[in-house]
Amino acid sequence: MSSLKVLIWAVVLFSIFLFIFLFGSLPQFQGTILHKVRQASVNFVIKSSQSADRRISKGKIGKFVHQSWHRCGHYLGWLIPVGYLALISCCIQLFFQDVYPEMIHIGNFQRYLVVPVITALPYLATVLTIFTSPPSISHSNITTETKKFRYDNIIFFEDSPHCRTCHLPKPARSKHCSSCQGCVGGFDHHCVFLNMCIGHQNYRYFFLFLVSNVTLLSYGFLACASVLRGRLLVLLDKTPISDKSTWKQYLKLLRAVCLRSKESNNATVLTLICLLLSLVTIIFTSVHVYYIYLGVTTNEADKWEDIQCAVSEGTIYGYMDPGLDFNDITNAHNSVSIILQRVNSEGRVSETEYERRDPHDTRDFTYNRELTQEERKEIQDKNLRFVKILDYSMINNIYDNGFFNNLKERLRL
Ligand SMILES: [Zn+2]
Ligand SMILES: [Zn+2]
Repeated sequence: MSSLKVLIWAVVLFSIFLFIFLFGSLPQFQGTILHKVRQASVNFVIKSSQSADRRISKGKIGKFVHQSWHRCGHYLGWLIPVGYLALISCCIQLFFQDVYPEMIHIGNFQRYLVVPVITALPYLATVLTIFTSPPSISHSNITTETKKFRYDNIIFFEDSPHCRTCHLPKPARSKHCSSCQGCVGGFDHHCVFLNMCIGHQNYRYFFLFLVSNVTLLSYGFLACASVLRGRLLVLLDKTPISDKSTWKQYLKLLRAVCLRSKESNNATVLTLICLLLSLVTIIFTSVHVYYIYLGVTTNEADKWEDIQCAVSEGTIYGYMDPGLDFNDITNAHNSVSIILQRVNSEGRVSETEYERRDPHDTRDFTYNRELTQEERKEIQDKNLRFVKILDYSMINNIYDNGFFNNLKERLRL
């Protein structure tokens, strides 16, 4: 197999792997082959690395890595952002050295505005994200942080215990980050590419970081590819091509163009790096746009996945308007906001165990939480009906206010 084919296969397989890894756990793929492949591969990687560690060092390597990461992981974590910025800087340097001089056809607007802005934006976004990193929740800001979001009592509970490390209450939508060693308000995720937490405060700059990288890398790919195409066209003018096996001759000429000189080599490498990285950044950005559409953060997406599992297991109950036909899913859409999950001392209870009992009979069960005063009043005033949640779409996510409002809220526009 030629090296070009190997490279194409590598890009395709890497993209498929990344897609499964990033999207496979989404609620929409629950129970599908995508979800099963992701679960199986994650379990395989964890189990095989643990068993290899047990065989080689009786678990000492794993323990050492865990302890070292705990001690200096945050400082080692800076290697990834520094490495990524160094790679991008090298690519930009190669671009201006070997590709840009051949872009003679571009106008002044592109030359003096588009190219400088596209080049500078990822650096600016990185600096802005780093300097607006969310502060850890402390005694001084806990009151402000608690006021920022309401508790939905579905994935964030008013009566949840304090953070075991910070010994402070957990505001809605916050999470403790073990890498940053603190609770973060409006927590989205801990970003390894920037070695910091992304929260309510710096999400807009993180989003700018994603978009600016997509723009830079896509522009780089298109510019490099068009320069290589220009060189190919020049060569084609000089080379007669027969009707038969045309694509093979094209590939031969393309290879000749790519390997002709050091500049061509650099332009080819740059094209492939930009293609691969732009695919990765486009996937990351698409995931975030999708989460904004759903009205969830990255952290919450996992929590909603658990809720969806509980719905399919039949362990979720709630209160809804008695006038609604809860068997009609389209009618019952977003109709339940007071949610209770039935649990026993051993954890979740299976569907069959439920079906044997009346849902109002709580003798052998407890719920995952107590109803609040306001909820009791709402149930009484509106005479709400206690029902089993049949479909995930019946549950109302109070943080989802429609795509454009979610976008405005996340980007703080
Ligand atoms: Zn904490
Ligand atoms: Zn963090």
